[in-house]
Amino acid sequence: MYDVCIVGAGITGITAAAVLAREMNKRVIIVEKREHIGGNCYDYYNGVGILVHKYGPHIFHTKYKKVWDYLSNFTKWLPYTHKVLAFVDGKLVSFPVNIKTLEQLLERHFTEGEMQSWVEKNRVPIEKPKNAEDMVVARMGRFLYETFFKNYTLKQWGIEAKKLSPDVTARIPIRFNRDDRYFTDPYQGIPKDGYTKMFERMLNHKNIELVLNTDYKNVINDIKFNKMVYTGPIDYFFDYQFGPLPYRSLNFAFKTLNQEWFQPVAVVNYPNEFDFTRITEFKHITGQKHSQTSICYEYPQDHVIDKNVPCYPIPKKETQEMYEKYKNRAKKLKTVFFIGRLAEYKYLNMDVCVKRGMESIKMI
Ligand code: FAD
Ligand code: UDP
Repeated sequence: MYDVCIVGAGITGITAAAVLAREMNKRVIIVEKREHIGGNCYDYYNGVGILVHKYGPHIFHTKYKKVWDYLSNFTKWLPYTHKVLAFVDGKLVSFPVNIKTLEQLLERHFTEGEMQSWVEKNRVPIEKPKNAEDMVVARMGRFLYETFFKNYTLKQWGIEAKKLSPDVTARIPIRFNRDDRYFTDPYQGIPKDGYTKMFERMLNHKNIELVLNTDYKNVINDIKFNKMVYTGPIDYFFDYQFGPLPYRSLNFAFKTLNQEWFQPVAVVNYPNEFDFTRITEFKHITGQKHSQTSICYEYPQDHVIDKNVPCYPIPKKETQEMYEKYKNRAKKLKTVFFIGRLAEYKYLNMDVCVKRGMESIKMI
């Protein structure tokens, strides 16, 4: 008999298990469909011994001290500041857009004030941007939109930015200084021994039992439990009653090269040329020393149930309306709690997933 059955051993489910077992002394079973823990945050050492992220680059960053402190019980952190460059017009330029970007693109010097007047002249005043294109055009104008966002967004989502929610591009700032960090949260770092090791420590408790390679629907009638924390796809829980919620997926193409380094920073975005959106070189993130290097190309594609991994919920009006129907059904179930990127059908960063997992204490 378990107090709680958790579906999914991603970062959300693992955090819920860790807090429920440790803080509340609950007996927990986690059922995970994949052959490994960690969900999309899983990392592993590849054939030549380089630590890679199986589902694309994962950088931990948060403004929530309590999230940082909680994970710090299970890992030390490698200090890491994420830098991204974009390949445009045959050169690598700073991204997100800041003074250096304009200088590199327009090949002249800018002061902060000059950048402000340049952007003021270029931006299109839109009081309340209603889609992902307007969000960028309103902040920085059409030239920068077309240089960095238009084609990347179309490639990434398979949908024009005009048809996507403004939240998609609102994540990316414009800066009127020379700060070229991708994230500005006060707490940033990479788990010293990798994400998977940190997750193993979180799950290492007498109250936690883990079952891998198992779809919960195949075993749920054989498990006795009082409450459920569900972190799988919400539409699957309800047998797709209102239709399948669409996701965007990625094909991750890994390569190992017989050279020490491939590119100057961890991630280079390719907004305009090529079918892939970005290339990641993992050693920049992990700080690992190795004579070879491993890189990963991301090719966006649609999600096909049971064929590839659901990566990104599609943020647009129609999908939101479908999700609301599932959410209303979910609300009526008093002993099942739906949390995480798939269960809430929402673009959540890792830190918010940890926060949600920690909040399961209040739900149970
Ligand atoms: P998942 O990781 O999807 O875990 C859900 C788990 O449930 C999976 O393991 C799945 O197999 C399991 N499951 C599903 N159905 C069933 C079932 N029927 N039975 C049993 N188990 C089931 N966030 C950041 O903060 N920083 C980043 O740099 C960052 N980079 C990202 C890059 C990419 C390419 C992507 C796609 C995401 C990135 N994220 C990043 C977001 C991060 O991946 C998510 O926040 C996080 O993985 C979501 O965790 P989760 O546990 O909610 O979902
Ligand atoms: N984006 C873009 N060009 C870029 C980087 C991002 O158009 O060079 C847009 C794109 O729509 C993307 C969104 O901004 O989906 C959010 O980017 P982020 O880097 O946060 O995406 P993630 O790392 O989550 O894939």
